[in-house]
Amino acid sequence: MTRVPVAKGVFTWPADEPQLIGSRCAGCGIVTFPAQDSCPRCASTDMAERLLPRRGRLWAWTTQEFPPPSPPYSGASGDAFVPYGVGYVELGGEVRVETRLTQAEGLHIGMDMELVLVPFRIDGDGNEVVTFAFQPVG
Ligand SMILES: [Zn+2]
Repeated sequence: MTRVPVAKGVFTWPADEPQLIGSRCAGCGIVTFPAQDSCPRCASTDMAERLLPRRGRLWAWTTQEFPPPSPPYSGASGDAFVPYGVGYVELGGEVRVETRLTQAEGLHIGMDMELVLVPFRIDGDGNEVVTFAFQPVG
């Protein structure tokens, strides 16, 4: 089965050790994810791509108990939906990323997390669409 990314420009692809693609403002130094064309803090358009660290710390989380609104959500729904963890992971002390988590139990604030790619759905062409998530390290 061919694996395809859920969207272009979200994470490096293909890659053995994928990284999220953010952006950094040359004017004020703020780092954003996803990448943006203009700075949300100072409105500068001098934004450069920045590959984010693969590891970070869990900042907050909750459990997604029901399918999110669709669109944009395009994953399993109805009886096929399985609750999953969602949260914020702080990367490099410079940006907090809203992300799916690989588990909804056994988490605690500040724990070390790392980026992984996980199956999300099968598209109309039979490709396995993968998205990013964070899982506890080790
Ligand atoms: Zn800025």
